Amino acid sequence: MELFDVYPLYDITPVKGKGVYIFDKEENKYLDLYGGHAVISIGHSHPAYVNGISNQLKKLGFYSNSVKNPLQNKLAEKLEEVAGVKDYQLFLCNSGAEANENALKVASFHTGKDRVIYFEKAFHGRTSGVVAVTDNKNVQAPYNQNHKTTKLAFEDATGLEEELKKGDVAAVIFEVIQGVGGLDEASTKFYKKTSELSKEYGAMLIADEVQSGYGRTGDFFAFQKHGIRPDLISIAKGMGNGFPIGGVLIDKIIKAKPGMLGTTFGGNHLACAAGIAVLDVIQRENLMQNATELFDFLKSEALEIPQIKKVKGRGLMIGLEFDFEIAQLRKELLFKHQIFTGASANKKLLRILPPLTIQKEHFDTFFKALKIAIN
Ligand code: PLP
Repeated sequence: MELFDVYPLYDITPVKGKGVYIFDKEENKYLDLYGGHAVISIGHSHPAYVNGISNQLKKLGFYSNSVKNPLQNKLAEKLEEVAGVKDYQLFLCNSGAEANENALKVASFHTGKDRVIYFEKAFHGRTSGVVAVTDNKNVQAPYNQNHKTTKLAFEDATGLEEELKKGDVAAVIFEVIQGVGGLDEASTKFYKKTSELSKEYGAMLIADEVQSGYGRTGDFFAFQKHGIRPDLISIAKGMGNGFPIGGVLIDKIIKAKPGMLGTTFGGNHLACAAGIAVLDVIQRENLMQNATELFDFLKSEALEIPQIKKVKGRGLMIGLEFDFEIAQLRKELLFKHQIFTGASANKKLLRILPPLTIQKEHFDTFFKALKIAIN
């Protein structure tokens, strides 16, 4: 059987990972400045992670959500502690799209409403409800286009109030810093206003932290910089360092009912072991602090390069905006210098999303290669 051919592939076959590096079958070493779409948080094959998952696998890999699983409670407690958030409940699932899908569903159950407001250039995933609030017609099938949604621009507080006033909005969903869209972030003033208006008109505020969460920006959640409290927070990517796990943090005012949400695999024993190991390492190795410190270094180095016009993002969620389109540069970095980087909807923006364990010396290697590639 052939594979359903939906992914444009590089002719590279990684077989091993260690820290910030991956290795192909010919033992070529690649510096991973992309973390496989921002997934690798604590580094490839971190020993604590490998031990956590292996030890759990020797005991019990999976049983369903019809029995008690104390690992889920341990993960929830650890998450509350490391993230510094209070009075949320945790629902565990398997991916970012699923996290957002469940967040939208909870918002609709809780409010009894059915319309969702989202923002230009948003990416919230590819399943039915969330692809309808993703600003890319190419990934929407006719089947996805019947949801009630409204798209607004960041900073359009007047438009937002007009829509919320209509009284049928269940949720406002947003990425605090956009990933696929190109690292745009609205102002604190706008996020605060959005939060106030949502409360006033009875809509749930959903922060999609699938990419920006888990310490990537230097804060555990990117919204924490803006002094707001979302009703729902979706998480995935960095949460399992590659093990498929996602979740939704749900404000305690929202009451659960049996059967309201559910999943076969979500929160299974192995996934929880992965999730707990990730949080332990983020805390023990001060990875959020590392992200904050490295951003300042990277920004000052980047702005010395005349072709870089802007450094977007925060922490280790970074966009370098060049004065030319970067498709060729990315290829050159990958095939001549063995460095993985990412792209976005903004064709001039190089996306840098490395493991949070990265060090200055790795960025030195990157800047050396970058200077050769662009000169
Ligand atoms: N939300 C954001 C902000 C994302 O960046 C992504 C994936 O890139 C998703 C949701 C979807 O996550 P997944 O691919 O795990 O379904």
